[in-house]
Amino acid sequence: MLILKHNSLSEQELLNIEQALIRWSDNNGPRITPELNVLDLSRTDVLGLLLAIFQRLGILETLATCHSSLLDFFVDVYAAYVDAPYHSFYHAADVVIMLYYLLTDLGALVHLSALDTTSLLLATLCHDVGHPGYNNTYQVGFKTDLAAQYKNISVLESYSIDITRRLLTKHDLLKHVSAQSTPPLSPPLSPSPSPSTSTSTSTSIFQSKSKQVSMVERIERLILSTDMVYHEQLQQQTSWLKSAMTKTNQNSKPKPKPKTINTNSNSNSLEITMMDRDDRQGLCRVLLHAADISNTVRPWPIAKQWSDLIVQEFFRQGDAERRAGLPVSPGMDRDLSSQADISLGFGDFVVKPYFEAIAGLLPAATVLVDTLKSNRRQWDNLKMKIKTTTTTTMTTTATTMDTESFESLEECLVCNSTSIDTDEKVLLPPSPLSPVSTSPLSPSLSPQHLPQSPLSKNLVLPVTPPDDPTFAMRIETWCHHKTQKLQLHLQQQRHQ
Ligand SMILES: [Zn+2]
Repeated sequence: MLILKHNSLSEQELLNIEQALIRWSDNNGPRITPELNVLDLSRTDVLGLLLAIFQRLGILETLATCHSSLLDFFVDVYAAYVDAPYHSFYHAADVVIMLYYLLTDLGALVHLSALDTTSLLLATLCHDVGHPGYNNTYQVGFKTDLAAQYKNISVLESYSIDITRRLLTKHDLLKHVSAQSTPPLSPPLSPSPSPSTSTSTSTSIFQSKSKQVSMVERIERLILSTDMVYHEQLQQQTSWLKSAMTKTNQNSKPKPKPKTINTNSNSNSLEITMMDRDDRQGLCRVLLHAADISNTVRPWPIAKQWSDLIVQEFFRQGDAERRAGLPVSPGMDRDLSSQADISLGFGDFVVKPYFEAIAGLLPAATVLVDTLKSNRRQWDNLKMKIKTTTTTTMTTTATTMDTESFESLEECLVCNSTSIDTDEKVLLPPSPLSPVSTSPLSPSLSPQHLPQSPLSKNLVLPVTPPDDPTFAMRIETWCHHKTQKLQLHLQQQRHQ
């Protein structure tokens, strides 16, 4: 029976959590893998699942605590998360799930001590606590109170650290492990770096080999390392981690699986000689960041769902920046960025190289790189479908639009046509206000593809894409933001 000290949940909620804990703890029950979609679960299911993961990894024993006390802490963490589209408690729970998979099925757990694992799991759960859904760039650009409080440096990560420290203190969750650590370093944390100075400063944070740090400091440093400014550094860190792991693997010998750790796999069957403390903490940071950016290596339906949420959050921030007259952050302008391109760009340039590096450390992670490739094809397919819809919508719209809407459309198109790079003209549909005969047509885009709108003597729109395989990509680029405007026109007309 679960009993809370600081929070109150209904009997039914506590019962649901307990049942979920039992279900997720059962070796014959559902598996905790990248296929598990936390967005399908209720809040009580998620809390039970988190308890089960902490139990499976032996964290209750390390903390010398019980399910009730841990749940009490979780409930406060849940309450401290903001209900942002993406950066909610569900994102944190999802990152915990992926981390569990990296530790167990992919075999990272054997390289870590019990204290490493415990600090890693607590940091993961709390790494975005308090995140308002508007990122560090927004905080600095809007000169928010948080930006002032943390001097514009790793603003949200620093805020999460403060909330985490407060909750750990409130629940006295580390009382039994604090004694195992020496007093904190002085000062407790080096100043976190700004993007331009991250390498030199963060090296001192991440590679300090002089003193053992307290449990709280371990957690704080892990949360700090989730700032994307450390991405490159963490990726580079995998190289020396690989050589450290290779050395320790060579000294491994068979050992029985620890009774306290109940994982998905039997990867713990070797007694691994531990890497040194700094290498282990480096591995923790690398793993946490991997789990944090893992949306695009998940099965397509899950990857797409998280993409929907992050794009919603991005565009919300972009709208706020535009309204305030500030530069819109890259990828956050709904008129200039498409969801597919945001996801493809992040996958190609951030996630792919990082997970390839992870696969160098944990070879089984290759399966995640494969999923990323498969998702890439899904995004390409989606772009093709959007293209087809776009050309159809534009044609349909042009033939049903009233005169006033049509003039607005013409304005939009004229505006766009003046911004077209002249070198690209041959790749684009003709300027709508130019006669067909003088339009810069692609060799493969002949006039028979271009119907004349009944409302304008000059407007020409593609209806049947020619065989040129790159046509779709080019036409989509050209049409993207106008499609939204056209659809809006249509909606307005329907409501009139
Ligand atoms: Zn995160």
